[in-house]
Amino acid sequence: MKAITLSFLLASGGGLAALAGTQPAAPKPATIPVPAAAKVDVNALLKEVMKFDLASQSDHMSVAFWAPFEFFQAVGRASAKPEQYAELDKSIEVLKNYQIFLVRRSYKDDQGLSRVIAAEDLARTAVLILRDGTERLPLRELPNEIAGTVSAFKRGVEANSQGIEYSTLVFSNKGKAGQWLLSAASKDRVSLRFKAISPMAESRFTWSTPLDSLSAPQACPTCRESLPQSWSFCPWDGARLGGGAK
Ligand SMILES: [Zn+2]
Repeated sequence: MKAITLSFLLASGGGLAALAGTQPAAPKPATIPVPAAAKVDVNALLKEVMKFDLASQSDHMSVAFWAPFEFFQAVGRASAKPEQYAELDKSIEVLKNYQIFLVRRSYKDDQGLSRVIAAEDLARTAVLILRDGTERLPLRELPNEIAGTVSAFKRGVEANSQGIEYSTLVFSNKGKAGQWLLSAASKDRVSLRFKAISPMAESRFTWSTPLDSLSAPQACPTCRESLPQSWSFCPWDGARLGGGAK
């Protein structure tokens, strides 16, 4: 696999804009026309992949940032020309074998000092729960084939978070038959759960897919309202939507 370099730039609007390329290149203009079907709003995607759990206990906070293959693809395409998409997809294909998360859990101690749950404790208490209830534990080591990409991604996010540090959790995305277990672009659901670790209570993050920014909206068959692809029922008239039960 060709090494890819990801660098993240802060957008003028305060959001996180991203640049990626198959080689360390100078920043390119942000206005690159892409086919409508392939265009992903990276800032909208960022809002979907990042979740906060402001626990019932004050001063306890957990953050989880899911970076599925489609995230890296969208970030890469943001600074690539359409004719480069195939090469880009190929260069990051290996990421489909994993589900990558950046996580931070923190609380304030008796003295009011901020304390962070250590990476090894996060790994020890984390479990990924697939839609059928299957649980998977994180890999003990970051696989070599994605180490460079993952650490560049982590540095980029940290640089845009005022230097706040995250821990990386990586899960295998392959089933026994070698099939991919989860895709952010298909109808599915995944949860990342952290068992309680003193003094923090359990925390659970759930993503329903396809992520809205990765899919075209669907029309309600009754009222024609444009609704996210991940929804199963129209909120206005209760009509069942195309994707089926969820
Ligand atoms: Zn409707």
